[in-house]
Amino acid sequence: AQERYGSIRDKPAVTRDGQRIHMLMNAGLMADLPSLPSSGAEGVGLFRTELQFLIRNKMPKRTELAGIYARVMDAAADKRVVFRTLDIGSDKVLPYMKPNDEPNPALGWRAIRVGLDKPGIMRMQLQALIRAANGRPLTIMFPFIAQFEEYRQARAEVDKAIAREKRLGHVLPSQLEVGAMLETPSLAFAPQAFFDEVEFLSIGGNDLKQFFFAADRENERVRRRYDTLNVSFLSLIEQVVERCAISGTPLSFCGEDAGRPIEALCLAAVGLRTLSMRPASIGPVKSLLMRADIRALSEVIRQARERGDQTVRPAVMEWLRSQD
Ligand code: PEP
Ligand code: MG
Repeated sequence: AQERYGSIRDKPAVTRDGQRIHMLMNAGLMADLPSLPSSGAEGVGLFRTELQFLIRNKMPKRTELAGIYARVMDAAADKRVVFRTLDIGSDKVLPYMKPNDEPNPALGWRAIRVGLDKPGIMRMQLQALIRAANGRPLTIMFPFIAQFEEYRQARAEVDKAIAREKRLGHVLPSQLEVGAMLETPSLAFAPQAFFDEVEFLSIGGNDLKQFFFAADRENERVRRRYDTLNVSFLSLIEQVVERCAISGTPLSFCGEDAGRPIEALCLAAVGLRTLSMRPASIGPVKSLLMRADIRALSEVIRQARERGDQTVRPAVMEWLRSQD
């Protein structure tokens, strides 16, 4: 399939109405790295570090992790890699960690909550990332931040890690960016000061949608019940776009919907300019984006909402058919 899109692989994704959309890829395993040149991705928008922990039967050592992260940065060369700190708990249980018996694991002790309550592993991971960067730029993203204070605390851990590495005489990253995932509705309503302070945000649409509609993403019975193109969900996303614009905070979207062409088009139409997806989706998504006038599409979306449509999908599909 990637050959099919070969002719546009190295072209920037510019829509018919001249909007530049940045196309990034999601990764997590070393096996994903060759996709970076072959997919035409402009960088790694989400590196899921927990995958390296999940494929082992014991806790990886700091030096081992530093080696892996360094190889990822080598493969990316001058392209940016967003390393997401451990996102464990809920559906991602480490075989060598005592499982928590929780009635609602998706709402439980997971991701940054574990990282802040038991910072040992996160500190080790931050140290591994700083050492892997070894004087190169470093980008760190925290998962599942639900309120401003959690971001502040997580950010403080990075600052502590930097100070420690400096004391130990290690080379520091030439540039450091620290951001958060927006995957709980609460964060969309955080004080504007949060948007001012966070250096970038990435919408984790998989989790955000599950919490917004209260529909378990793992539960076959309900997981497809609510459409991503539901007007309520698009309004939430649009609000995040606006709040980021006010603060000048770079925003991306890295949930699975970024890799679905129709959804990606609508995300662009409500204002997203950076999408991160599985590498195989970049070609098809880019191809559709380059043929679309997303300003015209946002008008279609606006009208569907004004009419009181529940989801804008039928209107969008009809518009797409009329374009051919
Ligand atoms: C998300 O929630 O949309 C996301 C990108 O993270 P994950 O799928 O790893 O939870
Ligand atoms: Mg998530």
